[in-house]
Amino acid sequence: MILEHSYATDLSELVTKVKPQVLKNARVVSINQSLLTQLGLPEDWQCKQTLLEQLFSANTPLAQHAVAQKYGGHQFGHWNPDLGDGRGLLLSEVVSRDGQRWDLHLKGAGQTPYSRFADGRAVLRSTIREYLGSEALFHLGIPSSRALCLVASDELIYREKSEMAAMLVRVCQSHLRFGHFEYYYHSRQLDKLQRLFDYSFEYHFQACATMANPYAAMLTKIVKDTAVMIAKWQAYGFNHGVMNTDNMSIHGITFDFGPYAFLDDFKPNFICNHSDPQGRYSFDSQPGIGLWNLNALSQAFTPYLSKAEITGILQEYEPTLLTEYGQIMRAKCGLEINHANNSVLINEWLDMLATENLDYTLLFRQLCEFDPASGDTTLRDRFIDRPRFDQWALLLGQTLAQQQWSKAERRLSMLGHNPKVILRNYLAQQVIDKAEQGDFSLFHELLAALSLPFADNPQHDRFSAPPPDWGKELEISCSS
Ligand code: AMP
Ligand code: MG
Repeated sequence: MILEHSYATDLSELVTKVKPQVLKNARVVSINQSLLTQLGLPEDWQCKQTLLEQLFSANTPLAQHAVAQKYGGHQFGHWNPDLGDGRGLLLSEVVSRDGQRWDLHLKGAGQTPYSRFADGRAVLRSTIREYLGSEALFHLGIPSSRALCLVASDELIYREKSEMAAMLVRVCQSHLRFGHFEYYYHSRQLDKLQRLFDYSFEYHFQACATMANPYAAMLTKIVKDTAVMIAKWQAYGFNHGVMNTDNMSIHGITFDFGPYAFLDDFKPNFICNHSDPQGRYSFDSQPGIGLWNLNALSQAFTPYLSKAEITGILQEYEPTLLTEYGQIMRAKCGLEINHANNSVLINEWLDMLATENLDYTLLFRQLCEFDPASGDTTLRDRFIDRPRFDQWALLLGQTLAQQQWSKAERRLSMLGHNPKVILRNYLAQQVIDKAEQGDFSLFHELLAALSLPFADNPQHDRFSAPPPDWGKELEISCSS
C-alpha cells in the first residue's frame, strides 16, 4: 500500500492542517470490504478496532497529515467565497495497484478554520444516507464517490433536534470541486490558480497534459464526464438536490450527498430538497443546471482559453448528454437498434408514466416482462388510459418485429438495465430509525441488496416494494 499526501504537501498554501477530533465512544459499524481490497489497503484494517486507531491515534499517517481544503462555490446561483472543508478532512491519498489515486476523506471530523459558526460534525442520519446513496449509485454504474467506513458514536449534536453524531470515510479520485478553481479565480489569486492547474495535470489529468492545448482538453473532459453522469441520473431517476458548484466534482462523479432522492412515482418536476421551493435543483432541471455549473467553472479557465474556445467546448455538453441518455433509455426499453420509432416510444412511455403518476423503477422493471405479442395484460392493467397504452404497445410490437433479438435475449438485456432495488427514501428512513436505536442489521441487509440492484433475488423482494403512504414524500432536511 502506498499512502501519499500530494495535495497537502504540493499545495500546502491551499490547506490548513487540522487533527481529526474523535467522538464520544466512537466505533466503526461498517467497513466496505470490497473497496478496502480494491484500494489495496492493509488487511488488518478490516478489523474495526485497528481501523479506528488508524483514523484517530495521533501518530498514524492518516491523522498526522489531515488537512482541510479551501474552496468557494455558487450556491443557488450566488457566489460564496467563504466555503471550505468545514467538517471534513483530507486524510491521505492511496495509490491502488492499477496506479489510480484515491482520496480518503473523513466527514464529520470536527471544526476547521472553514466551519464558520457550525460544529464541524455530521449526524448519523446524513452519514447513513451518504453511505447508502453513494454505494447504490456506484452499483448502478453511475459515477459516484464511495464510502469506506461508517463510525457511530454516543455523542449528541443539535440540528432541529438532538441527534447522534457520526463520521464517514469518503473515497474518490480527488476532492477537487468546481468551487476550488472558481475560488482562486474570483479572489484573483492567479498564481495559486496556476498551481492548482499544475497539480491537476500532474496527478489527475495526465492525458490532457500531453495534448496540444491541455486546458482545452481538461475542460472538455470535465464537460463530457459531467454530461454522462447527469444523463445517468436522469435515466435512473436520481435527484441530487443541491447542485451548488462546491458540490460538483471535476471528475464527473456524484458528490456531496444531501437531501437527494431516487424517484418513486415519476414526477419530472420532482423537488427532493425541502429548502428549494423554487425547484432550481428539481429532477428535470438537472441537465440545464449541469451546464450552468460548467459555465461557472469555465470562468476559471479564462486566463488560459479564449471565449470562443470555451463556448465551443461547452457546446459539447448537450449532445454528449443526449447521446448517453438516449443509449441508456433505449437499453431500458429493450430497443436494440437505432430506429425512427425509438424516440416516440421512449417519450410516450415516459409521458404515460408521468401522466398517471406511476412508479418509475417498478414500471421499467415490469416492462422487462412485457411482450406486446403475448396478450398478457399485467402491464396494461397498471394504466388507466388503456387505449393510449394499446396504441403505444402496437407501435412497440411493430418496432420489435424489426429487431434481431430473441424474446429471451431482449428480456435478459432489459433486466440488466432496469434495477429491481433502488435506494428509496422510505428504505433509508427505516434503516436510520433502527440505527438510531443501535441496530445496524437493516443497514447491512439493504446495503447487500443495493450492491446487486439488477439481480432477481427473492431475499431482497421487500426492498423493491413501492413506498407506503407515510414514505411517499418524506421531507429531507438540508441540515445534516
Ligand atoms: P454542504 O451543505 O454540506 O455542501 O456544506 C456547505 C458548506 O458548509 C461547506 O463549506 C461545509 O464545509 C460547511 N458545513 C456544512 N455543515 C457543517 C457543519 N456541521 N460544520 C461546519 N461546517 C459545515
Ligand atoms: Mg458540500
